[in-house]
Order: sequence, then structure tokens, then C-alpha cells
Amino acid sequence: MKGYAMLKIGSSGWIEKERPACGPLDAVCRPLAVAICTSDIHTLWEGAIGERHNMILGHEGCAEVVEVGELVKDFKPGDRVLVPAITPDWNSLEAQAGYSMHSGGMLAGWKFSNFKDGVFAEYFHVNDADGNLALLPDNISTVDACMLSDMVPTGFHGVELADVQFGDTVLVIGIGPVGLMSVAGAALRGASRIIAVGTRPVCVEAARKYGATDFISYKNGPIARQVLDMTSGKGVDCVVIAGGDNDTFIEAVEALKPGGKIGNVNYLGSGDTISIPRVAWGVGMGHKQINGGLMPGGRLRLEKLASLVSAGRLDLSPLSTHVFDGWQHIEEALYLMRDKPRDLIKPVVKLAD
Ligand code: NDP
Ligand code: ZN
Repeated sequence: MKGYAMLKIGSSGWIEKERPACGPLDAVCRPLAVAICTSDIHTLWEGAIGERHNMILGHEGCAEVVEVGELVKDFKPGDRVLVPAITPDWNSLEAQAGYSMHSGGMLAGWKFSNFKDGVFAEYFHVNDADGNLALLPDNISTVDACMLSDMVPTGFHGVELADVQFGDTVLVIGIGPVGLMSVAGAALRGASRIIAVGTRPVCVEAARKYGATDFISYKNGPIARQVLDMTSGKGVDCVVIAGGDNDTFIEAVEALKPGGKIGNVNYLGSGDTISIPRVAWGVGMGHKQINGGLMPGGRLRLEKLASLVSAGRLDLSPLSTHVFDGWQHIEEALYLMRDKPRDLIKPVVKLAD
């Protein structure tokens, strides 16, 4: 089969590989549509997870099941399915402890385009099919379905990590597709005021649709100072970090009230340490929690998040700004995601209806 792969750090292209084998609990699928993720960019061009040779990229897509193992109960060839970016081993001790995303080791629930070939291929392998796949509802398009692999679950996980409560004032740093889903998630959780940080006009407009009430550009000076000015010096109850860099934690801690929580889902692609400001962190005693996490993955969560879309509570259509038709556009879509033109939120490549 053909797949679009990371050949080594900084270099990508089409390769030929054997079609993956299907174990007793697994499925082999063929993608119906795939989306490019900023994480593909960190992996390929920044080498953020280290060197990989001839590893097929991609972890966002929806698919048709082609083959299932003899122990798979709930899926069969021909089923159209949602596929999460994170596919834990559900019988692992880590999953039993509540950390499915770390099943088998830190971040090891993230398998596609990390420890095994990803979804930018004619066929891809899904471990633990009953635990990880979900049926694609008829009223969700294949393009929107791609957003359910990673953007929705990750953006919403930022909201979970920041523990947003009714009436909270929430700062969302970064309003690319992940941060936009954090804005949407914070609104669904009952935030009163949502301050969004970003500059791409298309993202600002989408953030407003998803419920952002105030806007800040990180290019207009320190974020925390702007937030404190907007909140009479009080700061916010919660911060979701979905963009920025290692120094963004300084802004987040400074903008947060004592007792507040930070949820980071940003992928820190370089550097050895992050900085926490001593005084703003209450000289170590400010009860300002910093949580960073990979989203949990798995079928139940995927079904629940998809039900928000099916029920009309979450509109994913603003996210897919660039939709292509056919495998030949994968590379173009990938480069688009790397270069982030001002009108881009998310590129998607449709492969079948
Ligand atoms: P984008 O690049 O599309 O968006 C990043 C956002 O951050 C933009 O709004 C950008 O503003 C803003 N930004 C850039 N620089 C700064 C800065 N210095 N300070 C504050 N804001 C800044 O990324 P995505 O939404 O696609 O992804 C966000 C992050 O989440 C990525 O690092 C990605 O790898 C990671 N990720 C993590 C996952 C997880 O499971 N934890 C899964 C998927 C993604 P502007 O409008 O100016 O561009
Ligand atoms: Zn992704």
C-alpha cells in the first residue's frame, strides 16, 4: 500500500509498505477523510518526538472498516467509523488507574504517527477496536468527523484540565483549532466570560461564534498585563493553554487568581524547561494548579463528543477552512498547515464519500 511518511526529521514523501496485519482484537481501516494536525508539523519539522524513519504520518481521520479480528464484537467490515487520535490499550494498568492516554508508558496511548504508522495511508491499523472506534453518525460529514479525532477531544480536555465551572472567567491562550474547541467547551461548561488570545482574523471570528467574549493579541504586549487590565486586577479563574511556547506558563500563572487552574494541551516542541514565575505563583504557595495532559482517547468519549455534534450543540463546520479532494493533495495540505496562512484554521483531505 501507499502512505505519506516522515522519511526523517525535516523530510517527507510517499512510500510503499505492507498493508498492516489485523490482530484478534484489532481492525484494519481505510480512511474516508483525513486532517493535518499542528502536531504532524512539530513531529516532522521540529523533530519534537525524536527521529523517525519512514513512519506514515497522520492521526486524524474517519474511516471504513475493512477487516476485524476474530474477537472484535461491535464492528464489522463496511462500518463507517470515527477514529480517535489516541488509541489506548484498555486492559492496561494505566488505563485502569484512569490514565488511558499513558497506557504502556508516558504518552504511549498516542500510537498513530508516534509509535506506529499513522492514517495517511491506504490502510491503517487500530488496536483494541471495540475500545477505540465509534460508529460515524449519519448526520456528521466525513470532514467534520475528522475534527472529532483530536481537535474536539483535545480542546475539551484543556477545559477539563482547567476545571471550568459555571460562571468562571476563562482565558484561552491560542485559538487555532484546538483553542477554538476549548472556547466551545468552556462555553458549554458554563463560563461567563471567555477571553481569547490569538491574531488570525478567521480564528478570531470563529472564537466569537464559539462564545469568546473578549479578545487579546499576544503581539500587543504581555498577555497577563492585558488580562489584569480587563479584570480590574483580579485575573481569571481558569486558563487553557492551546498555543504559545514554554514562556506562556509565565503569562498563564500571572493572569490566574489564587486557587485557579491551568490546563495545558499545547505540545511543547523544543527547549528543556518551562518557567514558572516565583512571585506570581505565590512564592510557591499560591494554590495555582498547573495541569498538562494528552487527551484520553477511546470509544466512550468519542461517542459522547460526537453526540454533541449530532444533537446540534456543537457546530464543527467553521474549523475546516481548506478542504481538498484526493490523496494527491496530502502534501499540499501538510505544507499549508506548516505555513499557517492567515485564512487557515484546518486543512482536510476527502478521500471517499
Ligand atoms: P495553531 O498553530 O493553529 O494555533 C496556535 C494558536 O496560538 C494561535 O491562535 C496563535 O495565534 C497562538 N499563538 C502563537 N504564538 C503565541 C504566543 N506567543 N502567545 C500566545 N498565543 C500564541 O495550533 P493548533 O490549534 O492546531 O494546536 C495547538 C497546540 O496543541 C499545538 O501545539 C498542537 O501540537 C497541540 N496539540 C496537542 C494535543 C494534545 O493531545 N495535547 C493534540 C493536538 C494538538 P495566531 O492567531 O497569531 O496564529
Ligand atoms: Zn492532531
